[in-house]
Amino acid sequence: MARDYYGTLGVSKDATDQEIKRAYRKLAREHHPDVNPDESAQVRFQEISAAYEVLSDPEKRRIVDMGGDPLASAGSAGAGGFTGAGFGGLGDVFEAFFGGSAGGGRGPRGRVQPGADSLLRTRLTLDECATGITKSVTVDTAILCDACTGSGTHGDSKPVRCATCGGAGEVQSVQRSFLGQVMTSRPCPTCRGAGETIPDPCRKCGGDGRVRARREITVKVPAGVGNGMRIRLAGQGEVGPGGGPAGDLYVEVIEQQHDVFVRDGDDLHCTIRVPMVDAALGTSVTLETILDGAVEVTVDSGTQPGSVAVLRGHGMPKLRSSARGDLHAHLEVVVPSRLDHKQTKLLEDYRRSNDRERVEVVTNGSQNSSGLFSRLRDAFSAR
Ligand SMILES: [Zn+2]
Ligand SMILES: [Zn+2]
Repeated sequence: MARDYYGTLGVSKDATDQEIKRAYRKLAREHHPDVNPDESAQVRFQEISAAYEVLSDPEKRRIVDMGGDPLASAGSAGAGGFTGAGFGGLGDVFEAFFGGSAGGGRGPRGRVQPGADSLLRTRLTLDECATGITKSVTVDTAILCDACTGSGTHGDSKPVRCATCGGAGEVQSVQRSFLGQVMTSRPCPTCRGAGETIPDPCRKCGGDGRVRARREITVKVPAGVGNGMRIRLAGQGEVGPGGGPAGDLYVEVIEQQHDVFVRDGDDLHCTIRVPMVDAALGTSVTLETILDGAVEVTVDSGTQPGSVAVLRGHGMPKLRSSARGDLHAHLEVVVPSRLDHKQTKLLEDYRRSNDRERVEVVTNGSQNSSGLFSRLRDAFSAR
């Protein structure tokens, strides 16, 4: 009977919203189809998403707590079922009106028209782009009028043939010109080309067959998306005039700037400041990454300003692939701007110990070996 949504997420019946969210994120990361291509993982991911959809919605959660199943009547519209749910049969109506005669130019064009696509934008953190996320977004579009289910008529009344054009959808007029009489036709002003009118329109939609409404829908954002990418949800756009089939909804990703990483396609870049002495002697630094936790970045002895440590495969996931980009840690060597007495003395000792090193003007062609730090490295490796 009712599915065990709490069990699916592995939380107790009195779990807080936070606990539910945490459990969902953890499971979603494990079973996301982009991470785990297993067929069973895909099924599991849908179950997890459905459970989260239900338990994160106070209204639906209450139904569950009362022993019901809020998704039972919604068919497959749970996790990823975006395919025109709720518009059953309208495609047939559309066919009946347009049946292969598109572009013919003759006869009424029909009251039922396909709906427009719509676009909305959603802001995602770089972390969300990296892991993928199932997100709820608010959509404001025309939806099918539930009072008349799109017919536009009130009660049992029916549309009638337009009295002005006799159902043709267009009216002809005869104009005299120097060539003689010319027949011109234009869309009927009474029925706007539909060929029929509604004498008793639906009270709710005024005969349009659709009404504006805000609704929440769930968008499955795959791992690896980036700024400006659009996710298409078929049949979730505007319902057309006369209750015509809905257009598509496009959700555009706006990627927010990250505190540490800058993204370039599938690669990530960050900057690490390395004190002069650490650059000369070598060290390692812990870098907190988005997907791989703490990672050690090795700073080789003799590291030069502007060096880049490349961590292969630690970048962003590639869309619809298990491959990953690289992480480039740009090493910025920092020279101390203030030295105390003891430090000054140490560095003066160092300078005296190294008579090969002096300030010099770089000659063309000798840049590779004349840097201060390569000389420091030589000095240290010589000991
Ligand atoms: Zn007409
Ligand atoms: Zn209506």
